[in-house]
Amino acid sequence: AKRQGKNNYRLYSSHQDISSYKKYILEKDMRKAIVNEDFEIYYQPQVNKEGIIYGAEALLRWNHKEWGLVSPGEFIPLAEENHLINRIGDWVIRKVCAQLRDWKDKDLTIRPIAINLSPIRFMKTDLVAYVKRQLDLFDVPAKYLEFEITEGSLLKEEKTVISNIEKLRNLGVKIAIDDFGTGYSSLKYLRYFQVDTIKIDQAFIKDVNDGSNVNSAIVSSVLHLAREMGIKAVAEGVEEYEQFEFLKQKECDIIQGYLFSKPVPVNQLEKMMWAGY
Ligand code: C2E
Ligand code: CA
Ligand code: CA
Ligand code: CA
Repeated sequence: AKRQGKNNYRLYSSHQDISSYKKYILEKDMRKAIVNEDFEIYYQPQVNKEGIIYGAEALLRWNHKEWGLVSPGEFIPLAEENHLINRIGDWVIRKVCAQLRDWKDKDLTIRPIAINLSPIRFMKTDLVAYVKRQLDLFDVPAKYLEFEITEGSLLKEEKTVISNIEKLRNLGVKIAIDDFGTGYSSLKYLRYFQVDTIKIDQAFIKDVNDGSNVNSAIVSSVLHLAREMGIKAVAEGVEEYEQFEFLKQKECDIIQGYLFSKPVPVNQLEKMMWAGY
């Protein structure tokens, strides 16, 4: 928005102008949001075939004073443009390690937490040292951290990304391919480096149980592929019981979606993970 005079803001009517105004404000506020801890981590449980919680995915939320709860789909791309994504990503890693420490201190059985890492962070050479420092600092076993990586990560700085992945796995950290099947070269990933988990994108889960459609064929094949390679498979965006039934029958290891739970604040996750907690 253009400031006119002291306190007068011009009112905009078109959608375009409102969204660019919002972008402008978010971009401006992002730096202080890190310092002020305006970000919060929500957790979405992942369950096994028996419906028992296996672990959770950490999903970032921004509590903005003017715009309310801003979705990562809106601010992550901005953070990637202005490179604050590295600081935000590091904040998430540190926060999750601190959370695992807190659960350990309370004598709760800790569960693996998956963290989304931007391709931009994966391309930096200091990533592994940073992760190792946090694990040491909070004294949590590496196997409780899993990094989710999307296909964009391989497009540039291929060597650094692959070497970071290998080093992280050597530390004992797990690696997942996120949104599997949505890019042009998902299969290439499997040849480049070893991964622990494949996350089947939610687009393939939609209508998966209808039987004769393309999605059920794709999901069955990906599950077969994962099994052959000894890779864990997670189905995302499971909203209906029929989808869960189909996935169970195809022996999908882990399921994530609104059917079980939306992403929730940590206190709610604790209630779900440790009943009676
Ligand atoms: P994603 O990693 O693919 O995460 C899954 C998204 O699907 C999440 O949206 C989740 O809330 C949503 N979801 C989960 N279950 C269901 C379901 O049953 N149905 C439907 N329709 N949606 C479901 P969210 O939390 O808005 O995150 C959007 C994207 O933002 C994530 O997609 C991820 O790419 C990115 N993101 C989130 N947190 C972080 C972060 O800490 N760092 C980075 N770099 N990216 C993040
Ligand atoms: Ca993810
Ligand atoms: Ca995903
Ligand atoms: Ca996605």
